[in-house]
Amino acid sequence: MEKIPQHSHCQICGKAIPFGETICSDKCKTEYEAFTKKRRRYMYLMYGALAVLLILLLVMYIPK
Ligand SMILES: [Zn+2]
Repeated sequence: MEKIPQHSHCQICGKAIPFGETICSDKCKTEYEAFTKKRRRYMYLMYGALAVLLILLLVMYIPK
């Protein structure tokens, strides 16, 4: 059986790339950066909603 050399896959197009790399080309890098930026914004939104929910719960359960 042939041993497959250690390698990674491009996070965008899935092409095999040297181990330790994330992206295969500048084109994919641009897409990857746009993707991570979008994901980060989504994460902030989720944390924000969670924080608001927690505060609401706290306010509702504070003994009067
Ligand atoms: Zn790629």
